[in-house]
Amino acid sequence: MKKRLSLEEYAAGIRSGNRVVLSQAITLVESALEADQALASQLVQAVLPHTGQSIRIGITGVPGVGKSTFIEAFGKMLLDLGKKVAVLAVDPSSQLTKGSILGDKTRMEDLALDKRAYIRPSPSGTTLGGVSGKTREAMLLCEAAGFDVILIETVGVGQSETAVKNMVDFFLLLMLSGAGDELQGIKKGIMEMADMLVIHKADGDNLEAAQKAKSNYQNALHLFQENLKNWSPKVVLASSVSGLGLNQIWSLVLDYEEKVKFSGFWEAIRSEQRLDWLEDQVQELLGRAFLKNAQVQQLLREEKPKVKSGELHPGVLAHRLMDLFLN
Ligand code: GDP
Repeated sequence: MKKRLSLEEYAAGIRSGNRVVLSQAITLVESALEADQALASQLVQAVLPHTGQSIRIGITGVPGVGKSTFIEAFGKMLLDLGKKVAVLAVDPSSQLTKGSILGDKTRMEDLALDKRAYIRPSPSGTTLGGVSGKTREAMLLCEAAGFDVILIETVGVGQSETAVKNMVDFFLLLMLSGAGDELQGIKKGIMEMADMLVIHKADGDNLEAAQKAKSNYQNALHLFQENLKNWSPKVVLASSVSGLGLNQIWSLVLDYEEKVKFSGFWEAIRSEQRLDWLEDQVQELLGRAFLKNAQVQQLLREEKPKVKSGELHPGVLAHRLMDLFLN
C-alpha cells in the first residue's frame, strides 16, 4: 500500500506547487474513507489562508458544443498571458458513463502537458452533491498550489449547473448557432444563470449564422435587467479553431471582476457560497449517519417493500425512521 503523506507533507507539497502532491491530495479529498475525509478537511483548513486569490470560472454547454476544445484554447491563451490554470470537472453522468467529460485522456493534451496547467478529471462513483463538494475542496487546494484561474467544466443537463454556479465567480455558457434552445437542451433557467453567453464555433460557414444568433440572444437578454451585481450578461462570438473572441472573453471576465468587486458583490457572493457549502456538508454527513444507523437500516429493510408496493406512504415511514434515528 502506498504510504500516506502527513498533513504537513501534503500542505508543504501543495504550497510549493508540486502537482504530484496536489493530485494525491485531491485523491484524498475524493476518498470515501472516513479517516481520509477527516484528514482532507484538516488539510483544506491548513491551506485556507492561501486560497481565494483566483478567478473561478464555470463553463457549461451540451456535449459537442466544444467545451474541451474551448478550455484547451482558452487555457493556452491564459498561460501565454502568464496565468497558471487549473481545470476541474463536475460531471453528473460520471456514475453512468464512467466519466463523459475530461475522462478521455486524449482531450486537452497540450494543456495537460504544460507545467503551468493542471487538469483533473471528474471524480466518479459519488452523488452529485458529493462531487460538487469534492470539487470545491479540489478548487481550494489548486488555489493554495498557486493556480490563479480555475476553470470548472460541467455538462449542460441542469442539476450540475446549479452546483457549479454555487462555487464560481463567473458562469459562462457555450452555445451553438442554428439550433434552437430546446435542441441544445439548454433550459431558460441556465441561460439566466449565465454571466456570459458564448456563441461557439463561429468560424467558416458558421460565422454568419453565429452573428445572427448573437443579435437574437442579445435581444433576448435585454429582458434581463442589469442585476444587482452591476453586470448585465454579455454575448460573445468565439471559435476555438480560429481563436476569435478568446481575448475578448478574458477581458470581459476581468471587467466583470472589477465591476463586481467595486459593487461589493464579489465577496458577498463568495460568503453566500461558503454558507451553501456548509449546508451541503451538513446534509451529506447527516444523510450518511442516518443510513449507517442500525435501527434505521432494520426498519428500512422491513418496511421498504410496503412503500414499494404502494401500501405505505413514504412520508409516514420517513417520519418513523427519523424518530428512530433521533431517539
Ligand atoms: P464537448 O463535448 O463540449 O467537450 O465538445 P468537444 O470539445 O469534444 O468538441 C466537439 C466537436 O466540435 C469536436 O469535433 C471539435 O473538433 C469541434 N469543435 C470544437 N470547437 C470548435 C470550434 O471552435 N469550431 C469548429 N468548427 N469546431 C469546433
